[in-house]
Amino acid sequence: MDLSSRLKDGEIPVLPSPEVIRTARSKLLPTLPETGLGADHIKAHLQNDIVPGLNRSSQSPKYYGFVTGGVTPAAAFADNIVTETDQNVQVYLPQETISTDVEDRALRMVCELLDLSPDEWSHKTFTTGATASNVLGLACGRDYVLQTAGAGPLSIAEYGLLEASRLAGILKIQILTTVPHSSLRKAASIVGLGRASVVDVGLSGQPHLFDIPRLEAHLKEWGICSIVVVSCAEVNTGLFATDGTDMRALRELCNTHGAWLHVDAAFGLLARALPQTEEYASLNAGVAGLELADSIAGDAHKLLNVPYDCGMFLSRHIELGTSVFGNPNAAYLNTASSENTASTDRTIPSPLSLGIENSRRFRALPVYATLAAYGREGYREMLERQIKLARGIATYLLHSKGYQLLPQPSSPAVSDARRLQDIYIIVLFRATDEQLNRTLVQRLNATRRLYVSGTQWEGAPAVRFAIANWQVDDQDLNIVKEVLSGTVS
Ligand SMILES: *Cc1c(COP(=O)(O)O)cnc(C)c1O
Repeated sequence: MDLSSRLKDGEIPVLPSPEVIRTARSKLLPTLPETGLGADHIKAHLQNDIVPGLNRSSQSPKYYGFVTGGVTPAAAFADNIVTETDQNVQVYLPQETISTDVEDRALRMVCELLDLSPDEWSHKTFTTGATASNVLGLACGRDYVLQTAGAGPLSIAEYGLLEASRLAGILKIQILTTVPHSSLRKAASIVGLGRASVVDVGLSGQPHLFDIPRLEAHLKEWGICSIVVVSCAEVNTGLFATDGTDMRALRELCNTHGAWLHVDAAFGLLARALPQTEEYASLNAGVAGLELADSIAGDAHKLLNVPYDCGMFLSRHIELGTSVFGNPNAAYLNTASSENTASTDRTIPSPLSLGIENSRRFRALPVYATLAAYGREGYREMLERQIKLARGIATYLLHSKGYQLLPQPSSPAVSDARRLQDIYIIVLFRATDEQLNRTLVQRLNATRRLYVSGTQWEGAPAVRFAIANWQVDDQDLNIVKEVLSGTVS
């Protein structure tokens, strides 16, 4: 089986019916049973009562809500082994298990897929998702900027944000970005910088791009340190904040002002696997220069199509990383001693000092399995299929009277061909009729032939197709067109 063959023939419904959901909910056990009902009974209960009440967001290639992705057969197989063998991937124990070797190999394969040097990206780990990876990026960034500003050894990791900042004479750490994903503000809250520290320095008229003079003015502010975050790509439109030239400019500005450069590339990252062709010129440019960043957040449970939950974090600063995430004074968790590592050619850092968790799931195995099963070509082909469908839908919308493709072009000089070139895996649009637009998501989803999610764009409701499932194919365009034309006639 390759990445283009579907799990099942025919149409998998995108959602259970309201009736099925009501029934499933009514069959949930109301309370903890005093005497257990037995594993056999519960197996039947799960199969017959619970599973029907779950959505098919991962199984149906016509589920276009959010950016969900599915699960490839190789990843699904691996995930069952993860549960059976229940490895705790926290300490490198080379004489006992190869689980940390697998994680290291999987992360190296991810780097290879993305054309990033596995050795240069010395601090790399699997996380629970891009939100957690953004937390890691900001946690590394806040310590870096403060130390660069003169705190020296007075790290936040050791002394805490308040004391380290006071001793360094720093009043504030701000996050400068454009069209940030909501999880960035959440991450800012978690790491003690605060949601209000996120400042949008987008260009007026093209808000996803950096207003470089405005960015520079903020970077120069006295007593304030900065973390610059690149949205790669923006979740409503799929547009990229930078091209290679911008990344070089950002890198230079960050060097000059001691700022940390983080990229939120939850689903944009895989565009690094695309061929360098005219057709993908916009997307190639959108992910050019990411190797200049200090840290990158990525998701595996989106476009890599592995099961929830799995994200990646990559940074080029391993010493800083182990200082922030070090788990000291736990003698019983001592990492591999030197005699333990003598038989292996390279010491693999213990994952517990690279991220949030100590005990961790063997998330690496499905990533290893799926990358090995389908290879660079398999993923490239899958992504090209997804982009083709997205652009097919966008083309239909451009030529239809009842719909409007969003965002509106920044000037009348922007050709339709250019707008289509910018389409990655997300298509944002609305109905031209305002009344209809208000209920458009419900109407489209009520057909139960596909599923889309709603958002707000420039103060009005809008709809998004997000194409992320490995099973997507060209034939789906006909169904999408039928549903769209049947809803606005
Ligand atoms: C999905 C997404 C996130 C959050 O990822 P989770 O996997 O839900 O934690 C962050 N940033 C961007 C750009 C995203 O698309």
